[in-house]
Amino acid sequence: MEAKKRLYLGLLTFSLFLIAAVIWLVWFLIFNRTMMLNQVLLVLLVSVAVLFLIIFALGIIAMVIMIIRSHTTPWQENVARVVNEWLFPVALLVGKLLRVDRDSILRSFIAVNNYLVRSKQVNLPGQKVMILAPHCLQHAECPHKITIDVANCKQCGKCKIGELKKLADQYDCKLRVVTGGTLARQAIKEQRPGAVIAIACERDLSLGIQDISIIPVLGILNYRPHGPCLNTDVDMIRVNNAMEFFSQGG
Ligand code: SF4
Repeated sequence: MEAKKRLYLGLLTFSLFLIAAVIWLVWFLIFNRTMMLNQVLLVLLVSVAVLFLIIFALGIIAMVIMIIRSHTTPWQENVARVVNEWLFPVALLVGKLLRVDRDSILRSFIAVNNYLVRSKQVNLPGQKVMILAPHCLQHAECPHKITIDVANCKQCGKCKIGELKKLADQYDCKLRVVTGGTLARQAIKEQRPGAVIAIACERDLSLGIQDISIIPVLGILNYRPHGPCLNTDVDMIRVNNAMEFFSQGG
């Protein structure tokens, strides 16, 4: 078996044993409560579980408060970030069980993220802002290699890359056109922006926002009139608004 597959299957098996061990331990402790050590362990286990629940509850409350007040504080942001990272997959799973459309959940997550980012005071010079655009925004018949260097775009008007380039020149900000999440992460690592305006579909945007939770990201969904990943489009008014927000502090 290939090493990559072995690693994933091994981790799955380990997780299964871990869950089984926890269930067995709880069962054992409950049915052997007379022993002093078991009582202590049971209290410890319940305390840890309650602690996690409190952190999750605080995180959700912090998010609600941030949204209501349109203002964030560092502690609220930190708790909300932890909760987002831990509970995001759970929320997706619950949504799936309840047969809620996955894209609707992801759109809601992106909307909450944008709202929280907009409640911060961000005032950066244009050079510290990066626009990340997906390759599918480029016209499918365009011969210019804009993923290597967006300066290769001739601004012919057939797709929105030309307008994005114009906006990037206007604000002197970085513009990268990427073919996937890995290259997006690499671009962020290389350029170290203070804020990101990311254009993508629901899946890529929500994953990207999760991935780079330290940097404020305003996510803008692309339009897909020709289906996924082909000649997609973006609302430039929204991109302009995001740029103005980051460069003028809202
Ligand atoms: S605007 Fe730029 S990227 Fe789009 S088709 Fe024209 S040259 Fe190609």
